[in-house]
This record gives sequence, structure tokens and C-alpha cells, in this order.
Amino acid sequence: MGWKSSVIAAAALVTSGLGVAASAQQPAPPPFATTRVEGTDNVYIFRAGGHQSMFVVTSSGVIATDPIGYGRPQMVQTYVDEIKKVTSQPIKYVIYSHHHFDHIAGGKPFKDAGATFLAHQRAKDRLLQINDPNTVIPDETMRGKKTLTLGDTALELTYVGLNHSDSSLVMRLPRERIIFAVDFIPVGSFPGLAMIDSYPLEWEDSLKKVMAMDWDRLIPGHPGQPNGRLGTKDDVQAFLALLQDVSATIKPEAQAGGCWAKVEKEMKLPRYEKMPGYEVGLPYVLRRYCGLWGRGT
Ligand SMILES: [Zn+2]
Repeated sequence: MGWKSSVIAAAALVTSGLGVAASAQQPAPPPFATTRVEGTDNVYIFRAGGHQSMFVVTSSGVIATDPIGYGRPQMVQTYVDEIKKVTSQPIKYVIYSHHHFDHIAGGKPFKDAGATFLAHQRAKDRLLQINDPNTVIPDETMRGKKTLTLGDTALELTYVGLNHSDSSLVMRLPRERIIFAVDFIPVGSFPGLAMIDSYPLEWEDSLKKVMAMDWDRLIPGHPGQPNGRLGTKDDVQAFLALLQDVSATIKPEAQAGGCWAKVEKEMKLPRYEKMPGYEVGLPYVLRRYCGLWGRGT
């Protein structure tokens, strides 16, 4: 087959939906999915692309979280429709995990459905300042700790300090022993973009606080590796150890004057090279710890 007919044949396969299965070992996952968390009858995960949110069905309405509509506003209506498929209860709340737009943009369909939006105060402050046209401003805010009780369900919201952002909440279901925490506890993958505007030292403390809380399973904001698994306290411990190790490895190089150029161009962290996300994430990790140990920021 000449190259032209090869291209045409490949295009035909893609068009018919067979291209992915024919050309790769693993078929691409569907663009979105709604999954009930095993062992519960009320806790769900809505995944859109590589982002995911938790929603909880109570006897008096639904508590949803992050709209995850950045760059795909139509997907948020899908999220609302998916909730309606599993319950006729009204959507009462949308809670933002933290202020980053890839998780919280696109909430309008939830607003139109009558939901009250809740977030950390700093998330609201920043949203008011930036005035992103795609992101709903929270109606209610909190700072330290708050328990939201709706019908038969309690959802405890806790700010555990600075980490990946300055507005991250841990959402804990005490009865189900499940937490939803986004971006500051990657499950089975190497950090990358998560580092950009982070607070590396305080982050370690916040992980210790999460480990001291009472829970068994963690729903992350990006599907856990491998196979979209949920996290456990072992994952929090492993990620804390990774941050501490990476920090201690970069620190002497930075203090010897290696930042930015030498560290960013030459340094590798071979212990983690097999982790998903390592290649893409390494420059972000090196830059953030250069900022800390080589600049004082
Ligand atoms: Zn984030």
C-alpha cells in the first residue's frame, strides 16, 4: 500500500472508531464516565477526560464537587445529566476542592439547577480579583473546618493548610470513611504541574494532617495510577516520602549555586523515572525546588 492509501485507510479507521483499538494496545477510555464507589450506595465519581469529581446523593439532595469544565463547558451539562440519571434529588451544593480553573471552571449548569456554591475564602477572593468569565463565584465560604449536613449525610470540610494551593479542602465522609482531595495527593503518579504555585514545605505538614484523619479510601482529582484506582493512607505516606526525598536531593545542588540552569538542564531523579508522569513532571519539580532552596521562595 502506498503512503496515500495508508493515510486514507488510517483515516477511515479513526473515523469508524476502530483506529485506537487497531493502533494501540489499550483503547482510549470514553470521554466521561460515572461510577458508584464500591461498597457505597450514595458516593459517585464523575470523570471527564483526565479529571474527576465526587458527588454524594443524600436523602435531601445531592452534594456535587468540582465542575471540571475548563475548555469543555458542554461537559458540565453532561455532569448534571449524569447526576440526574442516578437520582431525582435536586442538586443542592457544589463544593470547590481548590481554586484552579481546570477543576472549577464551567459551573453554570449547576448554578442554573439551583445549587449553592461553597469554597475556601481564598478561592473566592482570587476569583473576584481575576473575574474569570467561565467560573461561578462561590456563594458561601469557609476557612478552617465546616460540616455540611444534608439529609442523612454529613460531609466534613477541612482546610489542612498550604500545599498544592492555598485553598485546598479535604472533603471527608465520616460514615463512608472516604475523602475527596484534589491535586495535593497524586495517587501513583509523579507530580508535575501540581508544583507550579505550590508551598512545598507546608505541603508536607498538610499531608501529615491528612494521614491523622479517620478514613480508608481517597478519591483523587485525577484518576489514580494504575487503572483509576482510589488511594489509601499508604499513598499519602509514599507521596510525603517522595516530596521529602526530592527536596533533600535538590537542596544541596541549589545551595551550591546550581539553580537555575545547571539543575534544570542536568539533574535527573532516577528513582522515580518509571513512575507515570515522570518525564513531563520533572522540569516542574526541579524548578519549584530551585525556587525554594536556590532563591528562598
Ligand atoms: Zn490544582
